Amino acid sequence: MRNFGVIGNPIAHSLSPIIHRFLCSYFGISASYEKIHLLDAMDLRSRLLSLDGANITLPYKMDAFKVCDEVRGIAREIEAVNTILCEGDRLIGFNTDALGFWECIASLGVKNALILGAGGGARAVAVILQKKGIDVWIYNRTKEKLGFFKSKEIPIQDEIVLRDYDLVINATSAGLNAENLPIHPEVLQLLLHRTQYLFDLIYPSSEGVKTFEDFKAFLALRPLTSFLDFAKTKVGASGMDGLDMLLYQALFAFEIFCQRQEGFEELKALFYNQKN
Ligand code: NDP
Repeated sequence: MRNFGVIGNPIAHSLSPIIHRFLCSYFGISASYEKIHLLDAMDLRSRLLSLDGANITLPYKMDAFKVCDEVRGIAREIEAVNTILCEGDRLIGFNTDALGFWECIASLGVKNALILGAGGGARAVAVILQKKGIDVWIYNRTKEKLGFFKSKEIPIQDEIVLRDYDLVINATSAGLNAENLPIHPEVLQLLLHRTQYLFDLIYPSSEGVKTFEDFKAFLALRPLTSFLDFAKTKVGASGMDGLDMLLYQALFAFEIFCQRQEGFEELKALFYNQKN
């Protein structure tokens, strides 16, 4: 039996156990997957070493990067880790958030993007977009938190520049209610008029989603986030929320944990099409 978990604070509302438990059960893998509420980053490494693998969520993705013995792939550039494989006493870190995000938008063919926010999510998004040759700008309300992006030579906007964008991404955690938009509503409205596609890393409240069937129903039909609701109400625009990205990062993590050969599309189909 293998032991996996998702580590964060808070952790009560994480959807990761539903996704990973379903996948393990579907493929006949003997494993547990628990929510782990960690109060202190100092305990991260020892907690990880008691597991076979883990997902890391707020606020520990950058701490996780630091406690790994080895970091692979794009996580090295993002300097944040959301998936850890524990091999004996070695912790190997990955970032599947960036891959999950890219899966969501790859087919859009965007050439430029403005990212609102400068936290861990914005880092993952900015690095993958930059690697894919897309022009990226960053705007964040707190200018002191932009050092990472400067070091990557990603242009910073001190104020929102109103020009035509292929994609605008809300990578802030603002959005818990309609008054909590990432930027001033008037500026946001002007920006939305000049934007082709919208992406909100946030997904709607998943309260009440307890089972795999609930999760599939939520994936199929869910309310708008406040950012996307604002876009629809004010300028008639639609966009993507972060729920598919959340699922995709979990599927990539599952591939890492269990070394499956099925392939991403086959895993994805289990959540969108198949009656289980
Ligand atoms: P961080 O805490 O690292 O960063 C938060 C960011 O949001 C900062 O840039 C912060 O700005 C900004 N912010 C917070 N409140 C406001 C506000 N009221 N107005 C404007 N800006 C604000 O969080 P993460 O980057 O890890 O996550 C950001 C969001 O993305 C979260 O909601 C998270 O759940 C979501 N996410 C979703 C994923 C998915 O798979 N769908 C994956 C990763 C993240 P400042 O620096 O000024 O404080």
